[in-house]
Amino acid sequence: MQRIVLASRPTGAPTEDNFRLESAELRDPGEKEVAVENLYLSLDPYMRGRMDDAKSYAKPVEVGATMEGGTVGRVIASNSSRFAEGDLVVGQFGWATHGVLPANQLRHAATDYAPPSASLGVLGMPGFTGWYGLKELGRPKSGETLVVAAATGPVGQMVGQLGKALGLRAVGVAGGEDKCRFAVETLGFDACLDHHAYPDVPAMREALAKAAPDGIDVYYENVGGKVLEAVLSLMNPFGRIPVCGTIAYYNLGGLGAGDAPGPNMLPRAMRSILVNKLNVHGFIIMDHWDRYGDFLAEVGPMVKDGRIKYQEDIAEGLANAPAKFISMLKGGNFGKTVVKLTGD
Ligand code: NDP
Repeated sequence: MQRIVLASRPTGAPTEDNFRLESAELRDPGEKEVAVENLYLSLDPYMRGRMDDAKSYAKPVEVGATMEGGTVGRVIASNSSRFAEGDLVVGQFGWATHGVLPANQLRHAATDYAPPSASLGVLGMPGFTGWYGLKELGRPKSGETLVVAAATGPVGQMVGQLGKALGLRAVGVAGGEDKCRFAVETLGFDACLDHHAYPDVPAMREALAKAAPDGIDVYYENVGGKVLEAVLSLMNPFGRIPVCGTIAYYNLGGLGAGDAPGPNMLPRAMRSILVNKLNVHGFIIMDHWDRYGDFLAEVGPMVKDGRIKYQEDIAEGLANAPAKFISMLKGGNFGKTVVKLTGD
């Protein structure tokens, strides 16, 4: 089998030197374990955090260890009654072509509704995150206005489409005209702003104010940075901000790594939270996995019949995973980033 290990920790943005491709022996599965040949590897922004040796909600990947990651793959040997050879399963096998895990850490891929790779995106962790964060924490009501950035990534795609299905005005923010066109024409967003076209916070704020003339009721936070700063003064009273991700800050290091460059926005942020009586709610989807069945029962049929659309960005071959990951963190992806690992 082949795997990619963390070769060194990045300072700032990761580079390909931080990763190393290795060959390794695939061990036989033990009692109640399952061996899998991975078909697709998911590449997700959270992996950037795992590369830092810093306090977070999860432990860092050790230098020399396999990069963490979710995969969908085919069972090639099983010592569990729950999984048979040939079954398609989802698990955290890491950046690797093969792996062995206990059966209780795996679930069947959602292939009743969509092809296997979708179990890493629209019907996997990111889609579930968008559903949970919007519905449970965003508490959306018909007629309200929703803003979400990284709008064409797997989380943003889900948030925007669910928002529209629930009767909200959905405003996306994305990097580039093509992404914005896709958000409006294919995903059904009411408007989408290309953040590259707005060089600073005042310009971003002016554009958002035009796209959200009644103010913002739900800001689904994926990015932080310029978009967050612009949104804060446009929030309506009793607005909700599910804090899902802050990718603009991921290269600053972990908690306690020192002050971020630039002006201190904290006073204005706190003032907006107070004056607008905002509900700002951070969450990590791993804590809510008990709700995955509810998500799949609701969204699976919507994906199957096309009410929820999804776009994937597929790279070929494990060796290309580091470059694809580095590019995704900078917006080089168009849709859910996955790596195809086998020829079939
Ligand atoms: P995406 O596929 O959308 O990839 C990340 C995107 O972020 C890039 O494509 C880029 O899109 C955008 N981006 C990068 N840097 C910036 C920046 N400085 N300002 C604005 N946008 C930027 O990712 P996902 O849909 O998988 O994830 C979206 C967010 O959700 C991430 O922050 C992720 O960490 C978070 N997340 C949180 C979870 C949780 O449990 N809390 C679980 C899953 C995801 P563009 O080119 O359009 O700007």
